[in-house]
Amino acid sequence: MADLPRIRNIGIIAHIDAGKTTTTERILFFTGKTHRIGEVDDGEATMDWMDQEQERGITITAAATTCYWRDYQVNIIDTPGHVDFTAEVERSLRVLDGAVAIFCAVGGVEPQSETVWHQADRYNVPRIAYINKLDRIGANFRGVLEEMKVKLGTMPLPLQLPIGAESELDGVIDLVEMREMRWSLEDQGTTISYSPIDPSRLSEARTGRENLLDYLSHLSDQLTELYVGGSEIPVELLRKAIRQGTLSRAFTPVVCGASLRNLGVQPLLDAVVDYLPSPLDLPPAKGHHAKKDTEVEVPCNPEAFCLGIVFKLQANREAGNLCFVRMYSGKIKEGQTVYNITKKKRERVNRLVRMHANHPQQIDQVEAGDIAVMIGLKGSQTGDTLGVEAFPILLERMHFPEPVISVAIEPKTLSERKKLQEVLAVLALEDPTFSVKENEETGELIISGMGELHLDVLVTRIFREFKVEARVGKPQVSYRETISAETTHTEKYHRMIAGKEHAAVITITAKPLPRGAGNRFISDLPEGVLPDELVAAVERGVTAAFGSGVVYGYPALDIEVRLIGAEFHQASSTPLAFEAAGAMSFDSACRAASPILLEPIMAVDVLTPSEFMGEVIGNLNARQGTIVNVESKPGADHVRAQAPLVAMFGYSTALRSATQGRATFTMEFSHFAEKVGGFGESR
Ligand code: GDP
Repeated sequence: MADLPRIRNIGIIAHIDAGKTTTTERILFFTGKTHRIGEVDDGEATMDWMDQEQERGITITAAATTCYWRDYQVNIIDTPGHVDFTAEVERSLRVLDGAVAIFCAVGGVEPQSETVWHQADRYNVPRIAYINKLDRIGANFRGVLEEMKVKLGTMPLPLQLPIGAESELDGVIDLVEMREMRWSLEDQGTTISYSPIDPSRLSEARTGRENLLDYLSHLSDQLTELYVGGSEIPVELLRKAIRQGTLSRAFTPVVCGASLRNLGVQPLLDAVVDYLPSPLDLPPAKGHHAKKDTEVEVPCNPEAFCLGIVFKLQANREAGNLCFVRMYSGKIKEGQTVYNITKKKRERVNRLVRMHANHPQQIDQVEAGDIAVMIGLKGSQTGDTLGVEAFPILLERMHFPEPVISVAIEPKTLSERKKLQEVLAVLALEDPTFSVKENEETGELIISGMGELHLDVLVTRIFREFKVEARVGKPQVSYRETISAETTHTEKYHRMIAGKEHAAVITITAKPLPRGAGNRFISDLPEGVLPDELVAAVERGVTAAFGSGVVYGYPALDIEVRLIGAEFHQASSTPLAFEAAGAMSFDSACRAASPILLEPIMAVDVLTPSEFMGEVIGNLNARQGTIVNVESKPGADHVRAQAPLVAMFGYSTALRSATQGRATFTMEFSHFAEKVGGFGESR
């Protein structure tokens, strides 16, 4: 049985280049030394399908890797650093319990780290900070602390101070145990030596220690008494107070090092174990009872009904789909049948696996609080809840940004079309923010994603990884359609098909919802008017119609459909008729409800040297941009704006030429807004 307090589910968030890969590698190196993978395996460590993957040279980057430190199981959940992949970031933040934020001692807090940090705030994720690259020229430990305060709005609490800097970096001062730590060069930093604080650094260390105690004394009366009385403070008491403050997010404890030089990594792991939450420290997960329409709390309890969420799906040719699942309640065993509550479908877990630095290890069961890979699930996807039929709880739905940009993709030769379709289907299965559609009139394949970069990355994978040759068209904006009035419509459907009568009569209302609400189908029929299976058929018809829009064929958005009336006749009321009536009633109701077009508005963040500020703002204005905020900082100005995506094509080239390549920007979807004048003349 899993020892819950001894599990840490963590993510590592960092700006690109801050040293996330290096630090993760070092973590796996040092943890591998204390707990060899071979020791926990039964000899079948590497599975056949992994071998085959490796032979082909495809490396699977695991969405979650397990390692062990001081008898604690640490599950590291992969968190992408690039904001163009916000969905992936949100998805991982959803399932991790705590995070390590890595900052580069030279670069400090970069805009992308700011974005991810604030996302983590939204999910109440306790964090520790690790200031890396202290050996680099220009490293500025205090500067990063200052930036954390100003840009992240958090109180950094250093638990360590660097000894020396840049090429003179020699070790760290541990303010908790008041000692110096140095790493041996002979064995790649495996051996750490401890020594008393050198008199030349004593005053700096004392100031740091006092700062630490000042903050902690707010949290513990016992600690305050000892501190005020000038008594020795037990290390355990200090750790307890630091843990408490980290969990309540009163401050962010800061450790430091230089991962590339194997300096500082073990204390970082100690801090993960000592200060980040176990699954039991967290408030119960929130769920939605699928039948009763009520909110429920799901405490982390291995003995209760089983409940888990698929947070990542990786398609694998040999093994089938690898579903990475975070368990919130109960347990799932290998060979067990589970119920996909989202898809209303039973699934069998053929194999259960834990990933260790990409070596899979077969396990018998996975329990609440833990993470594992399930193999054999055929219809499950990222975001789905797995559980049992008797306890149909949907875990909080993940929020995925809408695909807002589309391109047509065409195989170089006709014979490759089938292969291309298969590859696209795999990619869409793995990535909920990527979708594929076939244009019914032209037969063209249209792929949609969150931004130009997102589609670029996927298209490159299609060429390189799947070796399909294809041509891609020019990016197009993916619009949405909605309605601006409420209507009621009665649909009568009647057909003779192969000698059998299919008939349905339904009445629905279609109503616009506030922006961002999404689509909903609700049945308001009193009990007994229509059998459940026919209500489900209407829902299927309406849901399919949401996908194909109202006037232009763009997906419908923010519309509520209520089924308010129906007629049932034993002989002729068939699911086929009710499904068709559902789709047709949606079309007729929405056409009469003043349909409008919605266009994606992007949030644009530009960081530019001050002298180009005028050009940057002028250019954004010319692109129908609204400037939200301008902030002047030493060396660079930060402009936040919103602009319609359609006006932002080619922005990176324009910005480069306007600022001699010295400005950088990020852009992500913000919201949909009415496209004034529809397509008007411009289409
Ligand atoms: P990621 O993009 O955050 O995954 O960053 P990487 O781990 O790939 O590191 C980016 C670059 O910084 C690489 O060239 C690393 O060798 C280098 N790097 C990482 N950690 C350190 C460090 O502690 N000191 C120095 N000097 N370079 C580092």
